Amino acid sequence: MYQPKTGELCTCRKGIARDNCPDCEGTGQRIDFAAIRAKAAERQEAANLQAAAPAMLAALKALVDRLLPEVRDRYGDFDAMQREADYCEDVARAAIAQAEGDTP
Ligand SMILES: [Zn+2]
Repeated sequence: MYQPKTGELCTCRKGIARDNCPDCEGTGQRIDFAAIRAKAAERQEAANLQAAAPAMLAALKALVDRLLPEVRDRYGDFDAMQREADYCEDVARAAIAQAEGDTP
């Protein structure tokens, strides 16, 4: 269980009062609830990114598929555009992998 301490001693008395203390959760040292909330928010953000990533990647691929023929017709340098598209996909996949790694 993630239970970071502030390093501050709690004012509760040992025994039953401490066992039921919401400030230190029985540890005698005040729990750092701000750190717990920050960690939870960080995990939620990573989970949101991970959930959104496949749709973002699909949208990116759809856009690339739609634009590539037009760009090829206009500029003729298809290989360069394909490399750009591959690069975009690599970046997106790296972002997804990072988001998945950040989420327990
Ligand atoms: Zn306490």
